[in-house]
Amino acid sequence: MDIFQDASSLGFGDIHFKFDHATGLRAIIAIHNTHLGPALGGCRCVSYPSTEAAIIDAMRLARGMTYKSAISGLSQGGGKSVLIRPTQIRDREAYFESFGRFVDELGGRYITAVDSGTSVADMDVIARTTKYVACTSAGSAGTDDPSPHTAVGVRRGLEAAVKFKLGQSDLDGIHVAIQGVGHVGYPLASQLHERGVRLTVSDVNKAAVDRCADEFNADVVEPEDIYDVECDVFSPNALGAVINDETLSRLRTKMVGGAANNQLARSRHGDALHKRGILYAPDYVINAGGVIQIATDKSILNEKLSDIYDTLMRIFEQSAKKNEAPHRVADRMVDAILTSPAKT
Ligand code: NAD
Repeated sequence: MDIFQDASSLGFGDIHFKFDHATGLRAIIAIHNTHLGPALGGCRCVSYPSTEAAIIDAMRLARGMTYKSAISGLSQGGGKSVLIRPTQIRDREAYFESFGRFVDELGGRYITAVDSGTSVADMDVIARTTKYVACTSAGSAGTDDPSPHTAVGVRRGLEAAVKFKLGQSDLDGIHVAIQGVGHVGYPLASQLHERGVRLTVSDVNKAAVDRCADEFNADVVEPEDIYDVECDVFSPNALGAVINDETLSRLRTKMVGGAANNQLARSRHGDALHKRGILYAPDYVINAGGVIQIATDKSILNEKLSDIYDTLMRIFEQSAKKNEAPHRVADRMVDAILTSPAKT
């Protein structure tokens, strides 16, 4: 890995590392862009096969946050932190206090929040050593788990896709295949069920799919079989890079839209979806509900979440007009925002 070459190709930014012997903390904070404001992005605490994999994850996710905030009209930049999870965290409070000190050393250029492997309780611990943290149980910037808001945003995005692709104003009778029914996928399934959607779900966690079968009458398929389900919408809510050389030819869907970050293994896979007539809702547009909730006053939150519908409609219309894949249209919109003069 040539870190400076990767930084250059992803348009960074700065990357910070911390190793704390006392707590076993091995942390990376990637700050992609602060043109629109302080870099906001969650703190992920998961295991990685290598330090290199963790750095790449932090960098790609931080870049995604820049794009997500910019396209959502937020005054925030993009960043992300990755904690390489040890086999055992000896003292969780000391571990997250130490991470909070690391965040604090950056003087507010990076604001952390909940992500995979961290919780509101962890954010409360981080808040003991830095004020640059959202999603605490009592904080002013963000007040709780962003996942349900992400689910609302994804549902609004799917409504836009269905309207654009099928000319249908509601979701009644639409068949959605959901990959991953965790913090976002489950409330998404619930909202879709309420609106008359037929659901097929997959998850590596059997209890999670059983719950959807019981509560929403969802059909359940094995994790590896979800790509082959004939449906209107394939909704990735588990992993990145699920649209790739292997899965592309298997998809039997009209639309793709879900919460997972970095759904396209490569940009060319988005072009391939477009070529096959599968409408793709760019991930960082449709899954922005969480960051919108963190950065937005409660009084206008619903309105801001609904903007996802309008933003996607604009992207789909441009995409059709120019015969260009939606992810490329979205990227160009963001590039224009990021190269505009900074607000004073
Ligand atoms: P989560 O960990 O709560 O849920 C993910 C689910 O996917 C789990 O139930 C897990 O068992 C399942 N899963 C893992 N591997 C799978 C596989 N191979 N096939 C099927 N299911 C599998 O995470 P989450 O918070 O619900 O987030 C889901 C995705 O959305 C992640 O990629 C996350 O980065 C992204 N995202 C989340 C938010 C948010 O607000 N939570 C915001 C933006 C993006």
